[in-house]
Amino acid sequence: HFGFQDGLSETEKTERVAGVFHSVAESYDRMNDLMSFGWHRIWKDHFVSSLNPGLSSSSPPKPQRILDVAGGTGDIAFRMLHHAHTINANPSVHVTISDINASMLAVGKQRSLTLPASQQASLSFLEMDATSIPPSLIPDNSYDLYTVAFGIRNFSNVPAALAQARRVLKPGGVFACLEFSKVTNAVLDAAYKRWSFSAIPLIGQLVAGDRDSYQYLVESIERFPSQQEFRRMIQEAGFEVGGQGYEDLTGGVAAIHKGMKP
Ligand code: SAM
Repeated sequence: HFGFQDGLSETEKTERVAGVFHSVAESYDRMNDLMSFGWHRIWKDHFVSSLNPGLSSSSPPKPQRILDVAGGTGDIAFRMLHHAHTINANPSVHVTISDINASMLAVGKQRSLTLPASQQASLSFLEMDATSIPPSLIPDNSYDLYTVAFGIRNFSNVPAALAQARRVLKPGGVFACLEFSKVTNAVLDAAYKRWSFSAIPLIGQLVAGDRDSYQYLVESIERFPSQQEFRRMIQEAGFEVGGQGYEDLTGGVAAIHKGMKP
């Protein structure tokens, strides 16, 4: 039952993923809450506060440029802006929400209209494929922080995306990824697998009228590398990874990986 993408070319995989997100864009935010019992909000809050956007020791603060990749409907970007503006009282942070999918970006744009005007002014939107970013669109060494949340496992070519991340980051810039991962406890893992393989496609069918897209999402989590394998891929892409290099959330249901461009 992992056949959704078997035997497909990279272009076909990309098109298949595009189809999934076009069809889930409208229901995406509600489905996230239902499928994760709201946990995704806690993980996203933790991810953003661990990055502490807008923190600056200089006065006036140094401007910070953040690229949120596969930013979808804006959950990470909006939290980044909120954190920088209200917690660090630093408005000189710019966030670019990028995504391959125009439908997801359209929902993000609509949602951003409810942000305070000063935060809206620090936000821009960019339609692009994270696995091949033209240097004319984003030059080398142009961002301080690259974030990707629940996006990278959908990419048709993860090493290519990591190479692009390294290219667009400035030296000293940080790559940060929040993604579903491998549950470390066997009992929790059994319960989690039962939930995800039976309930999530069913909820997808009942709430979003789309069983196949949610079946695909569950399978893509299963296929994604373990914490240690993904850490190694980040290192192989040329990032410096400190300490363990990742942090498990909720027993490994999700994990945060970070790396620094030397
Ligand atoms: N980051 C958001 C969040 O945490 O709520 C959205 C995550 S959503 C599960 C995954 C997103 O990845 C979708 O919006 C999809 O369009 C995007 N995506 C998939 N393949 C992509 C690619 N090659 N380049 C850029 N974005 C991509």
